[in-house]
Amino acid sequence: MNGATIELPLYYTKLGPFRDGFSTAVPVITYHKLGPRPSGVRLKGLYLSERLFGEQLAEWRAEGFSPGTPGEVGLVPGNPNSRVAITFDDGFENVLRHGLEPLRRHQFTALQYLVADRLGKTNEWEQHYGEAPERLMDEAQVREWLAAGHAIGSHTLSHPHLTRIHIDQIRAEIGDSRKKLEDRFGVPVKHFCYPYGDWNRLTRDIAAEAGYETACTTVPGFNAPGEDRFALKRLTARYASRTWTNFLRPLRRLFRGRRG
Ligand SMILES: [Zn+2]
Repeated sequence: MNGATIELPLYYTKLGPFRDGFSTAVPVITYHKLGPRPSGVRLKGLYLSERLFGEQLAEWRAEGFSPGTPGEVGLVPGNPNSRVAITFDDGFENVLRHGLEPLRRHQFTALQYLVADRLGKTNEWEQHYGEAPERLMDEAQVREWLAAGHAIGSHTLSHPHLTRIHIDQIRAEIGDSRKKLEDRFGVPVKHFCYPYGDWNRLTRDIAAEAGYETACTTVPGFNAPGEDRFALKRLTARYASRTWTNFLRPLRRLFRGRRG
C-alpha cells in the first residue's frame, strides 16, 4: 500500500487516531504494568490503571474487535477478522492482579512475554536504571494466567541487551528460554520479544532458527503482509498526557531556573 504517511501519536491510549490503522493490519499492542504505581516510579506512563485498561478493551469490543495473536499478524492484507493482539512484556505480577478481571469481562485473551530465569523474582534489569522494584509472576501465577485462557511467550532468560552479548549467550537467551518455558508449563511457546527492543540481523536470525513463529520489537507501527515476522512492530500503550507532562517538566524547570 502506498498511502500518505499518517501522523500517529507515539503511544496508544485510545482507538481514535489508530482506527484507520486497525483496519489495515492486525495491531499488536504492548503493555507492561497495570494498577497503582508504587512510590518512586520513574516511567509512570507504563503503569495503566485497571480502569483505563478496561476502557481500552471495552472500546475494542464495542467496535467489533476480538482477540488475536502475533501469529496472525501480516498473513493476509487488512484485518478481515478484526483482531487485536494484546501483549505484555516482562511477566509482572500486577498484570495478573489487575488484568485478569478486565480481560475476562471483555472476553479478551493476551500473551505474556516471560523472562524465563526470573519467575517469582523482580525486575532487576530495570532497577539497575533506578526503576522501582516490581514482582514478576512465579510459576503458580503463570499457571493461573494460562488456566484463565491466556498465552505465554519468551522474553529471554535474563532480559539482557541481546546485541551486546556473545553469540553463545544470544543462542541460550533466545533458544533455551523457549525450551525452559515449554518444559515447565507444557504449552507451546511460539512467540518471542526482544528485551529493550534491542535486535539486529544476528539476533533476528537466531530467533528464527530457534523455532519461534514471530519475534516482536518495540518499533511503533502496523505490519503489512510480507513484513519480517521476526521484526514485528507494535504499539505501546501508555498514558499519553502524563508522558507529555513528564517530557515538559524538565524543560519548565530549566526555564524557571534560567529566570531565577
Ligand atoms: Zn522487557
